[in-house]
Amino acid sequence: MDADAGTDSDYDAERLRLIREVRQRLESLSRAGVETMPRSPERAPVPRPVVAEAAVAAPRPVVEVKVEAPAPAAPTPPPVEARPEPSSKPKATPTTRPKPSPASVPQQPIAAVGSLFGAVEFKSPYVEPADRAEALAVLAAEVAGCVRCPSLAASRTQTVFADGSPTARLMFIGEAPGADEDRLGVPFVGKAGQLLTDMITKGMGLRREDVYIANILKCRPPENRDPTPQESSNCFPYLERQIEIVRPEYLCLLGRVAAGTLLNTALSMGRLRGRWHRVFGIPAVATYHPAYLLRTPAAKKDAWEDLQMLMRAMGLVTPKKKG
Ligand code: SF4
Repeated sequence: MDADAGTDSDYDAERLRLIREVRQRLESLSRAGVETMPRSPERAPVPRPVVAEAAVAAPRPVVEVKVEAPAPAAPTPPPVEARPEPSSKPKATPTTRPKPSPASVPQQPIAAVGSLFGAVEFKSPYVEPADRAEALAVLAAEVAGCVRCPSLAASRTQTVFADGSPTARLMFIGEAPGADEDRLGVPFVGKAGQLLTDMITKGMGLRREDVYIANILKCRPPENRDPTPQESSNCFPYLERQIEIVRPEYLCLLGRVAAGTLLNTALSMGRLRGRWHRVFGIPAVATYHPAYLLRTPAAKKDAWEDLQMLMRAMGLVTPKKKG
């Protein structure tokens, strides 16, 4: 008899124990107000081949959006999972991270990764706050030399990595650099950037340097076209790493491209905004891109509601208007 094989009664006892644990966990979540459970991100059964930028990427599977419990009306934060204990995590060693090469183009579909119970799921070790600026600088240098998207690399003036605090509680994620950003090397510095800055400062009462701002793509797509699925896939590991290093408490996804990429959905912004999602287990709000708000001022009311939802969760109060 196989020494590792258990008896039928062992098997039944283990099965009952697992059922009991799952039931207790579900009851606990129910008491916390969680009504729906996210599905695990879908993984492609076969790796996608490494293809050139021009190749047409297979459409990403649209999976159920991870909808968590609605944000509480009170200043109590939304159902945020336990944050990893800094002291229990090893220090990051950014220099040991393998440098991506064109051959290391991601082989898997982009998918927002959230655990079944909303726990934070990161691939890389925790980076101490004091070490985050250096870790991000190492990553930025890596990005600056990236040629995974040959035509974008050839047409860019420079890569646009990020702006803001390496220890920010809140991270904004947009789509891609525009002409102004490409020229200056800083995200959200054009007219849309000015509106985002106003939203952060006048709306939320924060300083722009208190938050972290990044994009799905680090290079400007010509004519400000949407990123292709392949470009988003190529650049996603950099954004993933930025999130892992900064480990913000909250994410704000700006616009359809950022929300669609990080939530792995084709739903419209009208369906995505106004409720909580999770990305890597981090509570995330999706709202309209500032460029869209400039074209559609009527949507500013909705965007303001989304920011207020975020502010309530973060315990921020609306700044008083001068005069
Ligand atoms: S968009 Fe991202 S992946 Fe593509 S070349 Fe630029 S930095 Fe590299």
